[in-house]
Amino acid sequence: MPGWKPMTSPTSPALPRERTPNRGGPLLDRLVTVPGRHGRVTHVEHVPARQAGQAQWPSWVPPQVREGFEGLGIQGLWSHQSEAADLVHRGQNVIIATGTASGKSLAYLVPAVTEALSGGTVLYLTPTKALAADQLRSVSALGVQGLRAATFDGDTPHEERAWVRRNANYVLTNPDMLHRSILPRHSAWTSFWRRLRLVIVDECHGYRGVFGSHVAQILRRLRRVSAKYGASPVFFLASATASDPATTGMRLTGLQMAEVTRDASPRGTTTVALWEPPLTDLRGEGGAPIRRAATAEAADLLADLVVDGVRTLAFVRSRRSAETVALTARGHLEDAGVPLADKIAAYRAGYLAEDRRLLEKALRSGDLLGVATTNALELGVDVSGLDAVLIAGWPGTRASLWQQAGRAGRDGQDALAVLIARDDPLDTYVVHHPEALFGRPVEATVLDPDNPYVLAPHLCAAAAEVPLTEADLEIFGPSAAGVLDDLVADGLLRRRPTGWFWTSRDLAAGLADIRGSGGSPVQIVETDTGRLLGTCDEASSHTSVHTGAVHIHQGETFVVDELDLEMGVALVTPGTPDYSTFARDVTDIAVIESLRSHALGPGELHFGSVEVTRQVVSYMKRRTSTGEMLGDEPLDLPPRSLRTKAVWWTLPPESLPPGIGDLGGAAHAAEHASIGLLPLFATCDRWDIGGVSTELHPDTGRLTVFVYDGHAGGAGFAERGFGNAVAWLTATRDAIASCECGHGCPSCIQSPKCGNGNEPLSKRGALELLDVLLGDPAQRSALR
Ligand SMILES: [Zn+2]
Ligand SMILES: [Zn+2]
Repeated sequence: MPGWKPMTSPTSPALPRERTPNRGGPLLDRLVTVPGRHGRVTHVEHVPARQAGQAQWPSWVPPQVREGFEGLGIQGLWSHQSEAADLVHRGQNVIIATGTASGKSLAYLVPAVTEALSGGTVLYLTPTKALAADQLRSVSALGVQGLRAATFDGDTPHEERAWVRRNANYVLTNPDMLHRSILPRHSAWTSFWRRLRLVIVDECHGYRGVFGSHVAQILRRLRRVSAKYGASPVFFLASATASDPATTGMRLTGLQMAEVTRDASPRGTTTVALWEPPLTDLRGEGGAPIRRAATAEAADLLADLVVDGVRTLAFVRSRRSAETVALTARGHLEDAGVPLADKIAAYRAGYLAEDRRLLEKALRSGDLLGVATTNALELGVDVSGLDAVLIAGWPGTRASLWQQAGRAGRDGQDALAVLIARDDPLDTYVVHHPEALFGRPVEATVLDPDNPYVLAPHLCAAAAEVPLTEADLEIFGPSAAGVLDDLVADGLLRRRPTGWFWTSRDLAAGLADIRGSGGSPVQIVETDTGRLLGTCDEASSHTSVHTGAVHIHQGETFVVDELDLEMGVALVTPGTPDYSTFARDVTDIAVIESLRSHALGPGELHFGSVEVTRQVVSYMKRRTSTGEMLGDEPLDLPPRSLRTKAVWWTLPPESLPPGIGDLGGAAHAAEHASIGLLPLFATCDRWDIGGVSTELHPDTGRLTVFVYDGHAGGAGFAERGFGNAVAWLTATRDAIASCECGHGCPSCIQSPKCGNGNEPLSKRGALELLDVLLGDPAQRSALR
């Protein structure tokens, strides 16, 4: 790969803002003037500007509240803020789902502060302590007399806790604290519950998958405890842009929700470019070509933009990558003798508020022009007036993509956003299928509150809080009755004429590990210091902290010295290896029951319960900067079995194309690519799901491809695949067909976690199988 060179005619400083009608387009043109780069842009879209919609302060807002906001320079509301605030004030549960920096917090702060001043209390929930601390700062900055806001989390000193319980009328906490402390000890909060009027659930798009299902149950417990004290608080949910937010809100709280989705904050035109790095001369598994790393490409573009005086954020996956990108971009400038290297930095200071404020300041003043960062910056940082955003790798969801792209071009300015594809089937698909991104709604948040594995421990916790009665069953959903019977049979709950009781002396809430997926936890401990970094459940320890794994914890990189399953501990040492690791497993699957099915072409599509036996057998090392394979290391770990949900399709032998050749390789390739693409439809990570494919499965008697949820009981992902099967499998087919490689590569059918070393695989065969299943491609496109 040729080294980076400055663009042919750099102009500095930046183009004048006033005179350029659309600034993003010219910026992009300059990036592709570098010879050889033009072909890397697969699509350009201009997302039009949006005019502001202003509204007056609602008449019910007390003067001192209004003055507090006006003191901070907020002169009025956008119309979406006022609509949501009004609904809540009238006692309506509401979910607001609008873009980055659209001022969602103002929409709940106005009614919340108003409630607190009129004698009520407010509970504010956010996924992290850091965000709660940020929010506390904003609330305190209002300087409103009579508002007593306080955080209540793991960092709150014990001597302050009693004060918070008795006196605070605006309590900021997180679901973990609610689950482990506030709900189990509800009687210490009597006066708070009695006056509870409003519950704010901020960043609620983060409550998805198994974690989301846990939070859904915690919120149901919260509703029950409030009711015990005679309160029925209104819920205000704030979400990033998401499809069908009222349904998500309903699944999360069990309550009907009004939705506010029309964003009235002003925006400039955003030019969005899809960018595919070229294949290199490096060869990987099976001789497959390796695509240039998205981070290497991002470093080049970052250097270019900084030379042009363009304020740019580059989003990458880990803090280590952030450092690499910043370092590489600085190196480019130094080598070329451009004296701007000190204008580029990595954002790695973690979640400390002071660091974030410094960064905001440096970007505003122009002391910094280019910052490489993880998505930690999606949250809690107010950087306005950025000109460009580089996104190295599909960020997981359309919602995240727009959230990150939305960091550029605030205050109505034009901006550029570039999505750079990684060497992965999903990334390949999206850069070749702009229709998957533009002009369609972002995805709905997926969670499954009825998962019995999640529900069971929360029913125990709920019974310990206030004994459960028949009347409570409705709150916990249709599976509650069956799960309660099991809990009684297992001796965890006791049935009496008045209801279900928790009779143990242990803390019932201890049964639910809300951020894990069940099983006894493995502690992650720093070898030299004995410091406990965190825990993970045993099942995921096999893939994430096996011996030799490169483990990223809050953005810091560690290498696992040893995973000792008997002791339940993974010993780790901080390190800066230039490779990442991928656990590889082999899997068997048995069908327990097909719950739903229908014909699909000549085959069948099923959704149902399965038993998966999975064994991590080795791990692969891959050089971070180039994507090169550095070899496989064997591992000796026991198999794990898992009852979960799966989606699967079958084809009868007579429908298989004659001369297709390697059937096993065809099914295997289709399986890999379909795992890669499901996240586009189910808002999961490819590591949340797994697959099995076989020429002939004993339970179906046919060629079968399974994709299963990697969490006990299922997390809703496979179900989403079943519901969107035609779109999902069509995208899978198109992703394979879009890739320019000959016989398969990591951008299409190879999988980094394949326990069979990506053997056998047949790219052509996978396309043929999917064509049989989906019918003639010409017919399909006519239907679309
Ligand atoms: Zn390929
Ligand atoms: Zn495989």
